[in-house]
Amino acid sequence: MNVLIVNAGSSSLKYQLIEMEDESILAKGNVERIGIEDPVLKHEPMGKPEVKISKDIKDHTKAMELVIETLVHPEYGVIKSMDEIAAVGHRVLHGGDKIFESVVVDEEVKKVIKENFELGPLHNPANLMGIEACEQVMPNTPMVAVFDTAFHQTMPPEAYTYAIPYEDYEKYSIRRYGFHGTSHRYVSKRLLKLLNKDAEGTKMVTCHLGNGSSIAAVKDGKCIDTSMGLTPLEGLPMGSRCGSIDPAIVTCLMERKKLSTDEMNIYMNKKSGVLGVSGISSDFRDLEAAAADGHERAQLALNMFSYSVKKYIGAYAAAMGGLDYIVFTAGIGENTPSIREDACSGLEYLGVKIDKTKNNEIAAGCGAEGEISASDSKVGVYVIPTNEELMIARDTVELLGLK
Ligand code: AMP
Repeated sequence: MNVLIVNAGSSSLKYQLIEMEDESILAKGNVERIGIEDPVLKHEPMGKPEVKISKDIKDHTKAMELVIETLVHPEYGVIKSMDEIAAVGHRVLHGGDKIFESVVVDEEVKKVIKENFELGPLHNPANLMGIEACEQVMPNTPMVAVFDTAFHQTMPPEAYTYAIPYEDYEKYSIRRYGFHGTSHRYVSKRLLKLLNKDAEGTKMVTCHLGNGSSIAAVKDGKCIDTSMGLTPLEGLPMGSRCGSIDPAIVTCLMERKKLSTDEMNIYMNKKSGVLGVSGISSDFRDLEAAAADGHERAQLALNMFSYSVKKYIGAYAAAMGGLDYIVFTAGIGENTPSIREDACSGLEYLGVKIDKTKNNEIAAGCGAEGEISASDSKVGVYVIPTNEELMIARDTVELLGLK
């Protein structure tokens, strides 16, 4: 049985067709530049050469039609007909404080996605367009929505409430929501499965370190705190996002540099983070290469990042009253041993001890999963490649009772 995973952006539509018996990917791809000039579909059928299709694609419905045409194409397709797609799983950013778990798409769910347009202005409208495009193109195929915020909905009020007048939380829904929830959920579950352990009684910090980075405290398998907030801007310094800064910096800079709200948003989201500090790149590979050549600000940016990861691990150990496991995932977490080592150094008092050889073995591009802590480390430290698509596919199968 096959499940199609759709991740719709404002001008893009990423997809993966997963065969659920052995959870293998049959094909994946991305429609880019929807509704703008030179749209293109890049399609990777497993075991066949990659194809690029350039065609006029005016909206998400047209993009979805092309995806289906491509999946069933006699030459580069991977299935014979659309009937071979049992269900569609959609990635959706923001479920606000109404959605705690993955849900079967119905009118009520679409209403919640719409109600949260303001909280996820770049993603929620596009996610809904993806759902509506599928409804048009494959009206009889059931759909599930999997929300990035859902896993964090178990946080207690003291973790999600900001110290602003309470009526503004009530009126504007301003609170911590957290993001990358599907990734944090996937890696925390995966670790428990690897160790053959029950969630009950476990205290874990999951570090999703990529271009956007977030950390979660996962106690008894449930999220009790996370570093991203109302938006994905809070928390660690990221590729080009500033992460947590003194809020007074915002008004100070707006006054001194005469910036509008839009300009300030661009400053904090696109010009800051390790890019802003180093002045050279948001990509950790570039920063590592520059730092090795003696670029001081590249080294500073890397140090700031690892230091911030370390602080969150310590804070969340305090929040959970102890620590059993740390998991590293996503682009940096999976591929950058030096960041993992630096983030864990100095945490020996918590019982964290990295085995440098094991850590260096899980190097860039190897895609491996495994333990990197020393045999006498009290805390187990692991690298687990994230797989949000598979998590969405599993939720889809489970919720629709397709097993
Ligand atoms: P992500 O947002 O999860 O795709 O992560 C992107 C970040 O991971 C970038 O800063 C990359 O520099 C970093 N990274 C380091 N090594 C690799 C690698 N081998 N493949 C992909 N990303 C990498």
